[in-house]
Formats: sequence, C-alpha cells, structure tokens
Amino acid sequence: MHDFSYIGKSFCCEKVNLKKIAQEFGTPTYVYSYKTLTDHYLKLDRAFDYIHHTICYSIKANSNIAICKLLADQGCGADVVSGGELYRAIKAGIKSDKIVYAGVGKTEDEIKFALLSNILLFNSESQAELELINKIAGELNRRPKIGLRINPDVDAGTHAYITTGKKENKFGISLDEAFKIYKTAGKYRNLEFRGIHIHIGSQITSIQPYVEAIKKAVDFINKLKGEGIKIDYFNIGGGLGIIYDKETPAKASEFANSLKPLLKGLNCSLIIEPGRFITGNAGVLLTKVLFVKKSVNKKFVIVDAAMNDLVRPSLYDAYHNILPLQKSEGKISSEVVDIVGPVCESGDFFAKDRKLPFVESNDVLAILSAGAYGFSMSSNYNSRPRSAEVLVKNDQCYLIRKRETYPDLIRNEKIPAVLKRIGTGK
Ligand code: PLP
Repeated sequence: MHDFSYIGKSFCCEKVNLKKIAQEFGTPTYVYSYKTLTDHYLKLDRAFDYIHHTICYSIKANSNIAICKLLADQGCGADVVSGGELYRAIKAGIKSDKIVYAGVGKTEDEIKFALLSNILLFNSESQAELELINKIAGELNRRPKIGLRINPDVDAGTHAYITTGKKENKFGISLDEAFKIYKTAGKYRNLEFRGIHIHIGSQITSIQPYVEAIKKAVDFINKLKGEGIKIDYFNIGGGLGIIYDKETPAKASEFANSLKPLLKGLNCSLIIEPGRFITGNAGVLLTKVLFVKKSVNKKFVIVDAAMNDLVRPSLYDAYHNILPLQKSEGKISSEVVDIVGPVCESGDFFAKDRKLPFVESNDVLAILSAGAYGFSMSSNYNSRPRSAEVLVKNDQCYLIRKRETYPDLIRNEKIPAVLKRIGTGK
C-alpha cells in the first residue's frame, strides 16, 4: 500500500500534484510520502505487539536524514553497517540504545565510534572481529553487548545478489562455530555475548524461509540455554518483500502471526531490521522525457534519470512500474518501448519492451517503488550530479536534499602542484 495515485488525471503523492514538484524542483527528483513511511513502520510495529521488540530501520535502504528523523519520531531504532550510517542515525536523533551495528568488516575507527556512542548491540560475524572489538573495548574501558550473526543455511528464494543466509554466502558464522564461541566467550573479557542475529536476504516474498531460519535459530538459542547461556536479544534481520509488480508478499500481520508460535516462551527481546518494507513503496523517482528515438525495430524513450540515479534495473534486472504524471485523453494509445537513461552503457535502462501510454519530449514519468535502494545506491557516474529529494506530507512538500551542482562534483578533488602546467600543452 502507498499514497501515490491519480487524482483526476494527475498523478499525486498524498495531496500534492507531482507535476508541481517536477516544475518546482526539476528532474530527476525522488519524492517520498510521509504517510506511507509512517504507515509502514506502524503496521510492522503493531503486528509484533505480542512480544517485546524494537524495529531497527535498516538505514542502507534510504539514508536521508529527514527519513531517519521521521522514523525516529515514531520510536524507531536503526540497523547500521558503517560509521557513516551510525553518524546519520545519531544526527537524525535515533536513540543510541536502539542502534544495532552489522556488517562483515568494521574498521578500528568505526568500532571506536560505535563504542563511544553506546549502541545497543554489535552484530559480529567473525572471531577476528570479536578479538578486535574486545581489544578496543578494553582500551576504552567499555563492555559492549554482542549479537553473533549465525548463518542458518537457508535459501531465501530471492535474487542471488541479495541472498545472504546460505552457507556459501560471506555472511554469518556456522552454528558449530558460533556454539564454540559462546562456550569460550569468557576469553573475550570485555564483551557481553547477549544476542543472536540472522538476516537471510532481501525482497523475500514467502514466509517459509523465515520460518525455517527462525526455527534453526530458536533451536540454537535453546541449545545455549541448555548450557546455561542466556540470550536476551533475538535479531531476525530484515528482508520483507514488497510489491514491485505482481509479487504477493505476506502482510506484516501475517508475517508476525506466523512467527508467534516459534517465538513463544523464548524470553528474548526481538529485533527486526526492515529497510525495503518501510521505504520501498514510499518513494518514486520523477524523470523527464528528453527524446523519443526510433531505431529499426525499437522505440526508445530517453529520460533524464539514469542508472546512476536508480541502479536496480541495471544491477538486478529489477522491475519498476512506470507511469506518466498526466493521464492525457488525446494520447491514450500505448506503445511498446524501452525506457533508457543518458549514461553511456547499454545496461542503463529502466524498462525493456514495456507498454507505456504514448509520451513525448518534456512529459514527466514516475518510476514507482523507488524509495529503497534508490538514492542510497546512487552515484556520480558519468559525472552526473545526484538528484534532489523531496518529502510530501499531506498537501505540503519539503526539499530534503538539494540537487547536486557541478561544483559539488569536484568539491573534494585537488590538482597537485606537480600538474600545475596542465593545460599549457607543455
Ligand atoms: N539487515 C541486514 C543485516 C541487512 O544486510 C539488510 C540488507 O541488506 C537489511 C537488514 C535490510 O534488508 P531489507 O531492506 O530487505 O529489509
């Protein structure tokens, strides 16, 4: 569900005509709905009412500080995977005791920053990293809580690039190794081993892989209990799928209810790390048609957004629904086109052989379901300034990230003195 729809002939976000946003802020521009973001958060939060839990929004999905602040205001925590994400989370006002830090490779500086920030849990997934956290914690006189990320060896049934819970993936520790670590936890004198973490992948549309992975994790927690080792936090990761096209993902309530029997009696605080579920369908990317070009057997709609703005189609062959902002009576006949960007790569496309209402230069299109892994995965490839971001609340819109400029592109670059004769031809 989301709050993007046609009101009359105009495609709107909540009560704001998206054409107005395109005129005021230009294109390409990401637009997010406040209502959709809060609704998605609250749906999941309420669905897990039956158990003590914290929703730690996975900042990587959309890390704009205004989005993080909006979620912080609802009581949301954060799942971070870098010092930069931790910085954003804190700046957005997310409480440090609701921040969990995952990732296979944390640097010394990042570990120090997280220790000094008093985060809730380090989700760690190697002995080498545990040793490093233990060492730095000792130096800083801290005693952080650790959640071991285990690899349940479960196939999440999603795209190979976003499958993370199979034994051949780089993520997590095998159950045998994790058991050994817990049994010898005393050697890490500065660490408190308090949690178990799993995250089996992203855009998971079936509950079954979750049930399978959670059963394994629960058995593992009970095995530890049998050894007198108490686990206080069970982090089930994120990965909840959304509708891009014809998917039929489980509703938040169905998801929560199907886990209820597994979590009963576990006596752990639950952590859930959704990213895409909260922001995916809460954002669209507005892009203007530059030209329509016919080749021998194809018609290309060339737009001003590109793979540097939204890489999902190029990277995962991902589907995004694309709609014109204006339903036009005179132009109802549709045609089959490729919608492509201006970047110099054949992989720079948003849709192939897609039926689209007839469009022409200067029409604006909305690429739907672009709120997660859209702007956060964007780049300056082809020296393209990154797009603006706008938040809509009811009938108002707010610029939450300025469009980059050409000077922004070279702001951190330097020409060393040795090259001072550049341009002289000598
Ligand atoms: N938690 C962890 C550890 C992740 O690596 C990810 C995504 O890569 C997420 C949560 C969020 O996943 P999603 O956006 O699919 O919910």
